[in-house]
Amino acid sequence: MKKFDVDVLVVGGGMAGVAAAISSARNGMRTLLIEGQTSLGGLATNGLVTGIVDADGGICKEFLDRMQAIGALYPPTQIDPEKAKYVLEQMVLEAGVKILYSTYAIDAVVEGSVIKEVICWSKSGKIPVSAKIFIDASGDADVAAYAGAPYEVGGVEYGGFNQSTTLCFKLSDIDMRRYNEAMREARERGVALIADLQERAVQNGDLPYFIFPGCLIYNVPGTPEENREVTVTMAHSFYCRCTDVEDLTRQIIEQRQQIIYLEKFFRKYVPGFERCRLSGFASLLGVRDSRRVIGEYILTSEDVVCARKFEDGIARFGSFLNTHHPTSRRLGFKRHIHLKEPKEPAVCRPAQCSAEMHPLGVPGGYEARVRPGEYCEIPYRCLVPLKIDNLLVAGRCISADFDAIAVRIIGPCMSMGQAAGIAAALCVKNGTIPRKLDGRLVRKMMIEQGVPLDKEPDPYYFRWRATVAELKAKGEIDYVVLPPPGDFVVPVPKRT
Ligand SMILES: Cc1cc2nc3c(=O)[nH]c(=O)nc-3n(C[C@H](O)[C@H](O)[C@H](O)COP(=O)(O)OP(=O)(O)OC[C@H]3O[C@@H](n4cnc5c(N)ncnc54)[C@H](O)[C@@H]3O)c2cc1C
Repeated sequence: MKKFDVDVLVVGGGMAGVAAAISSARNGMRTLLIEGQTSLGGLATNGLVTGIVDADGGICKEFLDRMQAIGALYPPTQIDPEKAKYVLEQMVLEAGVKILYSTYAIDAVVEGSVIKEVICWSKSGKIPVSAKIFIDASGDADVAAYAGAPYEVGGVEYGGFNQSTTLCFKLSDIDMRRYNEAMREARERGVALIADLQERAVQNGDLPYFIFPGCLIYNVPGTPEENREVTVTMAHSFYCRCTDVEDLTRQIIEQRQQIIYLEKFFRKYVPGFERCRLSGFASLLGVRDSRRVIGEYILTSEDVVCARKFEDGIARFGSFLNTHHPTSRRLGFKRHIHLKEPKEPAVCRPAQCSAEMHPLGVPGGYEARVRPGEYCEIPYRCLVPLKIDNLLVAGRCISADFDAIAVRIIGPCMSMGQAAGIAAALCVKNGTIPRKLDGRLVRKMMIEQGVPLDKEPDPYYFRWRATVAELKAKGEIDYVVLPPPGDFVVPVPKRT
């Protein structure tokens, strides 16, 4: 039977796991990375989520620079998902990490509060892996769950359902100029183009039902403007249980059918898409949240809207709350939380919510949202699960409340991974455990290793929405993103 014994085992080769493995190896650890699929990148590649939001230096910036160098980046941060698989793999190998593909973590052997082995399954049969520190970057906190670490799933306010999920897809042969023009005209008329056209298609019997109010389109770099390939985030399933394989299968089947409807819809209704062709389904379902470990600190949605900073902050999030509504196809999103009193710098207004927004009871007080231009930090303690001593988590399964898991976007995931790799190496070298490690030291090393946590975020990569608007105004890109429906209109504050 194959067996491995390493310093650090990273489970899951998504963007968090890749950064964790590179960081661990660069800091001197014998590192093994196991990935269930046959390529790295997770949702960013196999899930076709190809726009990297809130990139913040470090390994993430290295990756973007390498993508740019081979012509696989559309400014500022849209990636070619296929080339990304190659670039990530090269970065991991160059750092000295051993990779095992098509290998799943299926169990953990725990003695007291220590994981002795993670049991993996592969074509070679069962593979036990022992390590000094385990990093769970599976997105679903699989290892934490096998080891008996505490976790939460879904939103209490929504009966434990997860956020709605999205199977992304690719369309080719799009005339982006025509599409942009239609978008501009629709905006001038105050119309949400895709939602409006969907309504018409439903009335005409060309779509069996309204699929989702928003649509996120990313350019595949290197394809010409009049013949563009794009990735599309639009299909949605609701009432999701993202740790239940039967329900996950239901979601995939339902959304593949939606995508077939959508290809026809785009062709018939959306300007610029008349010749479009479905060129690929994502091979990973877009799960936004599943298990969230309970860690030494639980990041709260109040921390997020109030842009809190922490002494042990190791990653930054400057985007908006982005809870894809668990039950309402019509509303689509929930971008606010409720506070008893308004708090700075959150953008607040007296609550105006409907029972559809909060089906188990409408909270009062004030609706509070992130003020554009502000950012919060994610403390190191969110990567440290309770109860198990030699485990760290990174990525979308960290310790955060249901709405605060908005920090799951790719830039912060990569910073979390980089921090987990540094923390694992510090623990092994100093003979300590993640819980006892001073997170301020991890932050200091993150800064030394290229993540500029001591400086204002670089607006080109970080204040993504503002950057996109600026580049578009200068005519440097033709990229289009729909404004989030129902967002408050708040000017982005200028910073010097
Ligand atoms: C539809 C959708 C749209 C989004 N849009 C954006 C966006 O526009 N911009 C942005 O920045 N972010 C966006 N996000 C968020 C972002 O893409 C993800 O949250 C982020 O990529 C998660 O990274 P991760 O490494 O934590 O997890 P994942 O990408 O899920 O990676 C986990 C990896 O672990 C592997 N794995 C899982 N379990 C096991 C196991 N037991 N054993 C071995 N391997 C395992 C999986 O195969 C996968 O490769 C979006 C998310 C979704 C779902």
